[in-house]
Amino acid sequence: MARELFAALFLLIVFAVAPAQASLYVAVEDTDLVDQAELIARVRITDQRVDLVRGYPATFYAAVLEDVIKGEASGSVVEVRVPGGRGPLGRELVLHGVPEFDTGEDALVFLRANDDGSYRLLHLSQGAFLERQTAAGAVLVRPIEEPAQLVPAADGSGVELVAPARRSDRFAAWLRDRVEDRRRPADYFVAAAAVEESLFRASFTHLSKNLQLRWFEFDDLEDVPWFRHIDGQSGLKSKGTAEFKKALKAWGPGQTGAPIRLVDGGTTESTNDFSAPDGQNTIVFEDFNEVIGDDFDCEAGGFIAIGGISSYYVSERLYKDQAFSPIAEAEIIINDGVGCLFSESPKLAAQVYAHELGHTLGLGHACGDKNSPKCDSSELLNSAIMRAFAHGRRGAQLSDDDIVGARFLYDPDFFAVPCDLPPGHKKFCKRCGPCGEGQGSCKKNSQCLTGLVCNKNAGELFGLKPSTNLCTVPFD
Ligand SMILES: [Zn+2]
Repeated sequence: MARELFAALFLLIVFAVAPAQASLYVAVEDTDLVDQAELIARVRITDQRVDLVRGYPATFYAAVLEDVIKGEASGSVVEVRVPGGRGPLGRELVLHGVPEFDTGEDALVFLRANDDGSYRLLHLSQGAFLERQTAAGAVLVRPIEEPAQLVPAADGSGVELVAPARRSDRFAAWLRDRVEDRRRPADYFVAAAAVEESLFRASFTHLSKNLQLRWFEFDDLEDVPWFRHIDGQSGLKSKGTAEFKKALKAWGPGQTGAPIRLVDGGTTESTNDFSAPDGQNTIVFEDFNEVIGDDFDCEAGGFIAIGGISSYYVSERLYKDQAFSPIAEAEIIINDGVGCLFSESPKLAAQVYAHELGHTLGLGHACGDKNSPKCDSSELLNSAIMRAFAHGRRGAQLSDDDIVGARFLYDPDFFAVPCDLPPGHKKFCKRCGPCGEGQGSCKKNSQCLTGLVCNKNAGELFGLKPSTNLCTVPFD
């Protein structure tokens, strides 16, 4: 009887948690984390440094081992390596979805050893919990918000809705038992109602804490091409081409009103991803350089994708009277093994690609991570494609919040280069546009502000040479 009940509960849990399958990670069960980790410990972060790993900047955090729960380390301090950081030669690699620690921060980490003697977080954000003090005592939260979920009640009386927070002491005790093969139900989740809003900090987020980043090419109406690795996305009919093109289009002027011109550049054989910059923005469909490290598995979950930017922080340009670092190159890495997930939902692939492209434009998460508000705090934020976890099968669809972000960084009314051409000049809209109503000359609709079209020989309407092509509202 008890076993039947457990089976029924298990089905319910799988069903209840299913929407989380659509996220940029798929939650790895705590039991799997324990089994897969080589070292589990409560740590305090005391220092950090950046070094190159296979050509890309990585941050090494010094973590003092305060309490080792599984495994053995050779000293009392280990280095935890995560991709991204400020490297040599003025180059900064900015990644999202990768946990960042503050010096002095307490954490619980699930680790695996790298070849260089350092450790990596198991499944990146899945292998890190940050300690927070609440009225209910010390709790552990993931750096990326998890949805509330149903779990079997610890007292065996059915199921309960729990917050994505784990009581520090109880979780540690449960982990210790599990390591010693004393298996028991989870008793460490905090009831959803008991968790305060303040677990996640509320503030507007750019992609990087240190830098404001943007492409300056769009100000001059230049395209930014994206190349697809020739192997393509496993699990999708078009090898991901159709889905990626939809994602590029989602950020375009037609949807956002911002002069964002991401275009498909075709295929490439480069698997450079975040290592030495090669001048190409590339989406790579397998994690060639092991930047993510642990493969995705449709049964056990894992990390899906990372979008990142290389910029040279030594070169700054002004935009709206603020210093911005021009983005030099961007890459998206899709993890190994994700094909099984995308084959069930090509729309999810388009959504993941569009989310990662949003990061490569300089946008952080709208909600749901350490630096942004909780997602259920506002419908506006919660509907954003830039929220920290994906929405079911919505596809590459932006919300108002995404559009606000896009238009903040790429303001259609802002031109970095003052226009040096007289109105009516045949290249006016190309160089000085997008053009407003009655401005010209234009060559195509995309040189006009959203809602306007390029009308051939319409100059007379606005007192210009009749042969001038002008941006106007569409004529019926
Ligand atoms: Zn993200």
